Amino acid sequence: MSPATRRKFLAAPLVGAVLPRKVYAAQLAAAHGEVYRQLGVRPLINAAGTYTTLTGSVIHPRARQAMEEASRSFVPLLDLQRAAGERIARLLGVESAMVTAGAACGIMLATAACVTGKDPEKIRRIPDIRGLKNEVIVPKYQRNGFDHAARNVGVRLVEAETAEEVRRAINGNTAMLYWTHIFEYKGKIARREFLEIGKQAGIPVFNDAAAELPPAENLSRIVREGFDLVTFSGGKGLRGPQSSGLLLGRKDLIEAASLNNNPHGDAIGRVAKVGKEEILGLVAAVEVYIQRDHDADQKLWRGFMESISRDLKGVPTVRTEVYIPGPGGHPVPYLRVQWDTSRFSYEACARQLREGEPSIEVNASAQEGLSLASYNLFPGEERIVGWRLAGILKGALQA
Ligand SMILES: *Cc1c(COP(=O)(O)O)cnc(C)c1O
Repeated sequence: MSPATRRKFLAAPLVGAVLPRKVYAAQLAAAHGEVYRQLGVRPLINAAGTYTTLTGSVIHPRARQAMEEASRSFVPLLDLQRAAGERIARLLGVESAMVTAGAACGIMLATAACVTGKDPEKIRRIPDIRGLKNEVIVPKYQRNGFDHAARNVGVRLVEAETAEEVRRAINGNTAMLYWTHIFEYKGKIARREFLEIGKQAGIPVFNDAAAELPPAENLSRIVREGFDLVTFSGGKGLRGPQSSGLLLGRKDLIEAASLNNNPHGDAIGRVAKVGKEEILGLVAAVEVYIQRDHDADQKLWRGFMESISRDLKGVPTVRTEVYIPGPGGHPVPYLRVQWDTSRFSYEACARQLREGEPSIEVNASAQEGLSLASYNLFPGEERIVGWRLAGILKGALQA
């Protein structure tokens, strides 16, 4: 089945509803990701979430079309970068914007901008930052692997656990205050307080908001709260190109970040090139996202989870719950599935789902059970997930 046929097939859940499950699943499995199968790599149904290891999200058709059109001609890249940034800034009502090679690159370019400003000599020198502002203050409990992107610039991350410790850590070498939105719930420092401290000291405050979509309002709201720079992933909720991201905020800092970016040759961002296709793809994805009916998405996704839940009715000891994760999670419907694990572990179930055909990815934890994410499923795939999961659990838990 061609990709176009598959898309039609997936867009027609009614077809799936009248076909016997097994036939439908077999058809869909055969249609699924043919181009990957030809390389000997198994594609998968994603009921896990927007994980880079599972290739994030699937690009929106309008973004895909924009990329295809962009791929047909040449253009001066600096002009395109500037125009795309201006368009995105206007759409979101923020001062300035640029397209980066993912949110991780947004973290790196934000840090570089705060260290070098627009000084060409400093831009050439980093990550050798002797004599430059070389410290970034970060809440200790927000430390995470992505802060390597900040450390690429050569800065030292100075940890603080309370607002008072943040204040005391500030000195003449402080380049930036570094916040990670999703980890606010983990500690004592309030977002407002962190911002206030930066404002008072005249030090830029950056927010890594990579996965904070939905809600769509966050695209504007977090900058308006007063953060000087904010990054979002283009390849998660936005459904833009997987290798794209947004950096939003103050005009002077976005200009400094752009000077640290490709196509400038002797700059730290030269290793993180964003092509014309990704740039136009992300502009289109932002346009689509801010016009989208997000309530309809939530309803559709909840329906997927309820459908899977119904398929598991009556399997011995199985309990299900549709829920929206709290702080530190993603505010979209998930399904939790638990059972008597003395007979069959959650990990063993996840392995069978992964190894079967089609391959299905879910989250499994010994404490929480299985948790299935709704928002990366195509219509119709929920029926396959329900059918496969019910089959595995009946086999393991009945008799
Ligand atoms: C996903 C994520 C990133 C990285 O985003 P990319 O667009 O994949 O570079 C950074 N920070 C957080 C908190 C994330 O969730």
